[in-house]
Amino acid sequence: MNILAVESSCDETSVAIVKDGKEVLSHIVLSQIDIHKVFGGVVPEIASRNHVIHMTRVFDQAIKDSKLSIDEIDLVAVTQGPGLIGSLLVGINAATAFAFANGKKIIGVNHLIGHIYAANIEHTIEFPAIALLVSGGHTELLYLKDHMDFKMLGTTLDDAVGEAYDKVARTLGLDYPGGPIIDKLSLLGKDTYNLPRAYLEKDSLNFSFSGLKSSVINIVHNANQKNEEIRVNDMCASFQASVLDVLVDKTKLACQKLDVKQVIIAGGVAANKGLRARIKEEIKDKEILIPDMKYCTDNAAMIGAAAYYQYQKQGAHPNYLLGGLSTIAFETMEIK
Ligand code: ATP
Ligand code: MG
Ligand code: FE
Repeated sequence: MNILAVESSCDETSVAIVKDGKEVLSHIVLSQIDIHKVFGGVVPEIASRNHVIHMTRVFDQAIKDSKLSIDEIDLVAVTQGPGLIGSLLVGINAATAFAFANGKKIIGVNHLIGHIYAANIEHTIEFPAIALLVSGGHTELLYLKDHMDFKMLGTTLDDAVGEAYDKVARTLGLDYPGGPIIDKLSLLGKDTYNLPRAYLEKDSLNFSFSGLKSSVINIVHNANQKNEEIRVNDMCASFQASVLDVLVDKTKLACQKLDVKQVIIAGGVAANKGLRARIKEEIKDKEILIPDMKYCTDNAAMIGAAAYYQYQKQGAHPNYLLGGLSTIAFETMEIK
């Protein structure tokens, strides 16, 4: 089954064609990072406008690269949320128009479920599994019972981990997005700033990153007032060590409590080299699945991968209606 997938939830305009949820026949990702960099973050209105400008071209290129005719496309899938509403609507309207004009069925895919299925492109998810979903807007530990049957074990009580990376980077005068830069600079520094680790109450699988972020901001602020230098590389190493300690320890705790075969790390922060290495070092008794770097941050291939399994389970709505925008997808599950 060939699925044409569209992703436009934030600042990547992306269209991919994916066969049977695994084989990426074509994949175009047009990043707007350079446009938003000067503002230190994504400006929603500018993001939507750029999706409008580039969407048709990205569609055409993805279809051309796949070497398929439009007749050979079996299903259209589009990110339905969560994300920036103006950005989402551009992708949803383009996908709906394409499906309607060509007599194709269409389904709406949850962006977070897409991030998880990125791990199924080069590997195969086996259930039950645990997923640590770490992205610009989300930080969740999930229990994956079966395809499309996911429960939330823990989530962030305040900032998402990617958001914390980006804000700390901005405080240190580094470029947007801050995650990859902090990851790189942390290799050049040492964990000497003694930043807090927020474990919350005993056995909690929830996260909190706002205290950590504030403590970096306070240190930088105090140093500025006293005209002291911040050791940027050491601060990056300290921040990253604090984040990784908590992410890795809570993922290990979830593994102790639930009997699973695999641990999946997904979302933009799964591109973090430190996280990739530490998870593999510290969790030896489970199979670790981490998407290839190009499938960690936003892309349409992951939406095409998720759509295949979603369609097997739920089919498509008969008359193009997508049922509005979707936000969070997961019920919580309490474990002892
Ligand atoms: P969401 O998926 O929650 O809606 P989003 O789509 O904006 O949010 P992603 O594209 O999944 O987020 O990820 C972007 C985030 O990943 C940014 O915050 C960025 O700083 C972070 N990131 C990317 N690479 C790295 C890295 N190497 N280390 C840490 N963070 C990273
Ligand atoms: Mg992005
Ligand atoms: Fe994302």
